Amino acid sequence: MPKPESKSIDAYRRKRDFARTPEPPPDSAPARGTRNFVVHRHEARRLHYDLRLEMEGVLACWAIPRGFSYDPNEKRLAVHTEDHPLMYETFSGVIPKGEYGGGTMTIWDRGRYDLLNGIEGPKAVSEGKVEILLRGRKLRGEWHLVRTRSEKDWLLFKARDLYARGESEKAPFFDLEEAIEAPLPETIEPMRAGAERPPFSDLDWIFEVEFEGRRVGLRKERERVRILASNGEDLTERVPEIAGEAGSLRAETAWIDGVLVAVDGSERPSRQRLEERLSGSSSAPVVLYAFDQLYYEEWDVRPLPLVDRKEILQTVLPKLPHVLFVDHVHGRGEELHSVTASAGLPAVLGKRAASAYVSGDSPDWCRVPAEAPSEEKTQALSDALRARRSPRKIQLSNLDKVFWPGEGYTKGDLLRYYHQIAETLLPYLHERPVHMLRYPDGIEGKSFYQKDAPDHTPEWVATESIESDGEAIRYIIANDRDTLIWMVNLASIDLHPWLSRRASRDNPDWVVFDLDAKEAPFTDVVKIARTVGRVLRGIGLRPYLKTSGATGLHVFVPVKPGYTYEHTRQFCEAVATYVASEHKDIATVERVVSRRRSRVYVDFGQNRKGQTVVPAYVVRPRPGAPVSTPLDWDELDFDLDPGRFNLKTMPSRLAKYGDLFQGTLRDPQDLLPAIEAFQKNYLGG
Ligand code: MN
Repeated sequence: MPKPESKSIDAYRRKRDFARTPEPPPDSAPARGTRNFVVHRHEARRLHYDLRLEMEGVLACWAIPRGFSYDPNEKRLAVHTEDHPLMYETFSGVIPKGEYGGGTMTIWDRGRYDLLNGIEGPKAVSEGKVEILLRGRKLRGEWHLVRTRSEKDWLLFKARDLYARGESEKAPFFDLEEAIEAPLPETIEPMRAGAERPPFSDLDWIFEVEFEGRRVGLRKERERVRILASNGEDLTERVPEIAGEAGSLRAETAWIDGVLVAVDGSERPSRQRLEERLSGSSSAPVVLYAFDQLYYEEWDVRPLPLVDRKEILQTVLPKLPHVLFVDHVHGRGEELHSVTASAGLPAVLGKRAASAYVSGDSPDWCRVPAEAPSEEKTQALSDALRARRSPRKIQLSNLDKVFWPGEGYTKGDLLRYYHQIAETLLPYLHERPVHMLRYPDGIEGKSFYQKDAPDHTPEWVATESIESDGEAIRYIIANDRDTLIWMVNLASIDLHPWLSRRASRDNPDWVVFDLDAKEAPFTDVVKIARTVGRVLRGIGLRPYLKTSGATGLHVFVPVKPGYTYEHTRQFCEAVATYVASEHKDIATVERVVSRRRSRVYVDFGQNRKGQTVVPAYVVRPRPGAPVSTPLDWDELDFDLDPGRFNLKTMPSRLAKYGDLFQGTLRDPQDLLPAIEAFQKNYLGG
């Protein structure tokens, strides 16, 4: 028997050729009584977001060109479009070019909603006023859709509620794919440091100050806030100022992990003062230092990486006088340790940045105490320190030599630049074998590659012997500023690190698309980069973009540990080949230079052990001293001029925008689902 079809789906049917589009057929279903919503990110001719609300067997739809804002003052255009079939709720895929809505459709948010007008959905739509309460992963709270005088044009805005915030504040657009939907528990046993360690620095770890006090969980369920000690004791009524403030957390449901701290007369955390306060014999002020979030709304977020949980916490926690966010430093444990030790604080906590939250003692957390540990350890430490203190002399040479004749920049200018940006650059070199390309007479003189550390390499420069083709090469590892300066002083203008680190040399951290223009106009490179970005995002990845500093652009996708170069290269090759086929006239994957003509070369071949790609922030040996510069994808415009970013301008850009490439260190991604999505969406298999 044919299904009953609603007339409202006719427009949907008329606009599409179902022999060509993968979108679901124009069936309508009987009303299910559920109220689901979905938001698609639709990269069509213009990027926009499609909000779709389930109403009586179909999805009512609005296209929102500028996306969602949590600021109630931001009223965004929402174009009312044709009703879609219910099956569209789970649709994602690529609508072929030339078809209606041609482009990539991905699910950006989904969840349940309620109507607030007290009238049925279709009636609210016909009356031009749809007030909804969204319970999605990214969209929460009350939102209003109001029709303007034009039939199609509506306005969408956030209503004032607990989730509302200013346009400049971070929106809670979290990726909760790894979270588990679960009710909020009554108690949670805290995670604790599994060991003590001497001070260390490691980019896989974050470091926080340890505060002396009582470990507590802040449990919020709607109006009800409780402060629970780890022994189960309920402290809520003894610290009413904290329970009161927690009411303004930007979440209905939350579990936050932290420490209750009271300070003594000299502003030092004092355990004694805290116990006095909790027993009622003192009125000393208390503060909750919040450092982790375990539940957020309907989800148990403990499986998420620690740094993602901390981002949720930071976004959910408004500025409050008695509940404070504990920030961390990334990687630089030794520095934080020396600062906190000299401030008289007891310890630093090291936590593995990617770790899940697991109750009890864990090897993913460690305590780095300020006081000297055992005698044996102290001896080892002072030996190590003595070794480090042995004077590192770098005899800087030829500082006045002109390296860039066109601009008159000298080797001294180059060294000053690297000295200034070392802290930003070093994480991208950390633990990676690096090749030098030396220009002893500047960019117009002769140059030579050097992989092997020279004989005069000082002892304090870290090196790693790696065998290749039966020959051991001693690679330089540039983990600190001194090593960097020593290499630049050898006239290595740019540096060429591997895509993997020495301890995991067969497993790259990044997939790199090298878009090389050579003869092609730069606007063509921009076009190709846009397509690469669109394709990668369409299969669930978060790519990062930078200029190469020469004639092209680099697109990086940081990947989770465990993939081999074979995996990353094959993936890159498949995407590169697809992109080149979409732009046959201006792009190619042809290896033979003469056959490339003046097309952009989409090079996937760098994804190979022993190959190198210049990192962000290095100066290139080319006229104008251009710097390989991270870009926001929004900067990818046809008037983009990569020459604007150079040795003179980079430091102020960095001060203004911060390090836009950090995601390549902190946002490792799973390639496997992306490969599957790519095969499904682009290769039709
Ligand atoms: Mn659309």
